[in-house]
Amino acid sequence: RELSEILKVPPNQIMAELLKKGILATINQTIPSDVALSIAEDMGFLAEIKKIEEKIEEEEEREEEKNLQPRPPVVVVMGHVDHGKTTLLDAVRKTNVAEREKGGITQQIGASVVELADGRRITFLDTPGHEAFTSLRARGAQVTDIAVLVVAADDGVMPQTVEAINHARAFNVPILVAVNKIDKPGADPQKVRRELSELGLIPEEWGGDTIFVDVSAKTGKNIDQLLEYILLLAEMLELKADPTKKAKGTIIESRLDKQKGVVATVLVQEGTLKVGDVFVAGITYGKVRAMMDDKGRRLKSAGPSTPVEVLGFEDLPMAGDTLKVVDDERTARHIAEARKLQKEHLEKVSKGLALEEVFRKIQEGEIRELRLIVKTDTVGSLEAIKKSLSEISTQEVAVKIIHGDVGGITENDIMLAKASGAIVIGFNTRPDVKAKEAAEREKVDVRLYGIIYEVVDDVKKALKGMLKPVE
Ligand code: GDP
Repeated sequence: RELSEILKVPPNQIMAELLKKGILATINQTIPSDVALSIAEDMGFLAEIKKIEEKIEEEEEREEEKNLQPRPPVVVVMGHVDHGKTTLLDAVRKTNVAEREKGGITQQIGASVVELADGRRITFLDTPGHEAFTSLRARGAQVTDIAVLVVAADDGVMPQTVEAINHARAFNVPILVAVNKIDKPGADPQKVRRELSELGLIPEEWGGDTIFVDVSAKTGKNIDQLLEYILLLAEMLELKADPTKKAKGTIIESRLDKQKGVVATVLVQEGTLKVGDVFVAGITYGKVRAMMDDKGRRLKSAGPSTPVEVLGFEDLPMAGDTLKVVDDERTARHIAEARKLQKEHLEKVSKGLALEEVFRKIQEGEIRELRLIVKTDTVGSLEAIKKSLSEISTQEVAVKIIHGDVGGITENDIMLAKASGAIVIGFNTRPDVKAKEAAEREKVDVRLYGIIYEVVDDVKKALKGMLKPVE
């Protein structure tokens, strides 16, 4: 019955289709999702939806240069624990003109906009750390333009500093360094520069291309300068969007509110989102009933790089889902339902990248790089594995360790692997409980070894498979 409602055909027609597949089902019976999907396919339903989605894509691509306008950068603050990420975000918000003038109270909606005296704006993701943006990325969303890497000048580069750099690099997000806590007696900003240079982040003043700003999040020193540099970098990146198009954005957060129902924060990325717009978001849809900005003000419309809290979802969307405005409610419902059907089906049959699959993927031209995350028990074994693996890259396929560290396999490692299509290798180390769960859920291939030769051998085998001539 449910399927007949989705496909808008009488139940007996569905039953007839089922019979063709040798399935005798009553109207109240549950059928496997892959059967439902293939019926939807047979009846031309998915083809129709695909056509609609393609039309939407086409419309999007018809981007007219003249309509492109500069948009504010979207920034994430990353760095080692206690290096001052939260304090820096607070300091940045204090410079907010809009808030000071209108006495607005900041609402925690997942992202906030900082407006400078001259009207220029920067959007900050409220959750500090690379976890937030990596988990968004794992869902396929690309929201951040710039990563501000906070490093405490009295502590220097620490393990999570390195992890943050690797996460940002895996997604090609440019890094700007904020050397923090320069008010502290033991602060040594030059040491931070030296340590980061060794990791390839070379300060501009030393002939490199990374911007370093010395700040104190506590006293507020140079925070305005930091904002200036963020805007300068944004200008160099030529961030642009067309505000005249139908809106497209990403869900940053979502929750169920007792009074308001489903509440979700949308970061608008293209076009302008308006009250009354009908949209699809992941496997749900809705109509914008009301919008609120990060200062709790009601909005009628929101342009590119603006985070807004949106009311009017039929169901809870997931962080990382794309929101797209469509022509009418019927289309929205159709697309959402088709996606739901496909998702249920795909969840059963799909898997993340597994080492065994690498060969096929390379052949199909899907990947040219075998990405690995390597966790080991000691620095010595990490270095040894790195060295051995770096020697087995071939002309066709590069073996690339996107993150290597000493310690247990964490949920972060899994999310990075999921987001970047990598395989996790553990050497004399294992995943903790949360990582295990995440690997199951996200279907990430985690391989554990105790002998270096075996690591190298497995990767080599995968590569050799790739290079075997097709006979
Ligand atoms: P996070 O874990 O990276 O978010 O770090 P927090 O923002 O929570 O800061 C950790 C500690 O460092 C707190 O006690 C802050 O007050 C302190 N802190 C942060 N920035 C500065 C700074 O610029 N100078 C000094 N002296 N302390 C700071």
